[in-house]
Amino acid sequence: MSKKALIIGASSQDGSYLAELLLEKGYEVVGTVRHTTNFFQENIKHLYGKIKIAAADLIDQESLSYVVRDNKPDEVYNLAAQSVPGDSWTQPFYTAEVTGLGPVRVLEAVRQFAPSAKFYQATSREIYGNQTGTANEKTLIDANNPYGIAKAYAHMMTRCYRESYGIFACGGILFNHESPRRSLHFVTRKISAGVACIKNKVKNPPLNELGEPLVDGQGKLHLGNLDATRDWGYAKEYVEAIWLMLQNDKPKDYVIGTNTSYSVRDAARIAFEHVGLNWEDHVVSNEKLHRPTEIKDLKGDYSLAKKELGWEPKTSFEDLMKLMIDADLKRFK
Ligand code: NAP
Repeated sequence: MSKKALIIGASSQDGSYLAELLLEKGYEVVGTVRHTTNFFQENIKHLYGKIKIAAADLIDQESLSYVVRDNKPDEVYNLAAQSVPGDSWTQPFYTAEVTGLGPVRVLEAVRQFAPSAKFYQATSREIYGNQTGTANEKTLIDANNPYGIAKAYAHMMTRCYRESYGIFACGGILFNHESPRRSLHFVTRKISAGVACIKNKVKNPPLNELGEPLVDGQGKLHLGNLDATRDWGYAKEYVEAIWLMLQNDKPKDYVIGTNTSYSVRDAARIAFEHVGLNWEDHVVSNEKLHRPTEIKDLKGDYSLAKKELGWEPKTSFEDLMKLMIDADLKRFK
């Protein structure tokens, strides 16, 4: 009999790639989405009919209990969150409620209705805050923004449910990972979409989080701090690590990253060069898009995942940016 997986947050970038991976592996997949008035799930439209869609919201315990009780999954992946660190300053209560408490609601549903299910929590590198160098599973948790603090709480509660109730619960401490399915809230996707709109002379570019066109009337792409650096990997590869964690003998937390880092400036340069343009002619750093507190350069030391899960990243950052731009050149015409 095939295994059944429940993905909370199936419409996310990672949820859509994970659903594809699980289908390839012969799983029956149930994916939750939020019921919104304007139902629009770009990332999973191609999976309609292949996965079962259910409605659940991280702020509604009963919706989560229902979906776990009703489906009795073998594996539960919580990928849902208020996932935008930048928005967490203006939505601190909502971020705590959804990103912090939401996973505990999923854990409670698992504990009560499917205690032998394996559970994955999407933890983030943001739990390490402003530390520099490389981070592994033993690095101090020291988050410095509302999103990171909410993720730190959920991560520690995942550990607590593992140790207190014997639930097979793992926290994947993932560094940034991107793809053509990345939301437009994030800088790599803003760059790939912005480059495509500039190259293709798109008249109505999408809006950024300020509600302003991503590319202004002068053909300038507005970004935040160009000196900010991140360890960026390819989401399609990261969901393999997520799946591998739940196939392990013992539940554990793992850092997933590339152990490299690039600045936003590097990303812009690579992107504009790919379409034969000079980034300096098109990029402005807009103060309104800077974070109140930045995080410093930190790389993800994935050696434990390599040793115990046999996982390592394959796609270079340059190739990742290029594949995102190629996808957006087709999308924005
Ligand atoms: P994403 O594309 O930003 O998607 C976030 C998901 O959360 C969406 O499916 C969204 O549903 C759902 N969601 C938001 N609020 C919800 C609520 N109240 N109840 C139920 N669902 C809700 O996420 P991602 O980039 O794939 O990341 C997946 C997870 O990994 C997230 O938890 C994120 O915080 C974490 N993470 C991501 C990265 C990264 O670099 N991508 C790094 C570390 C950790 P709607 O479509 O309805 O809005």
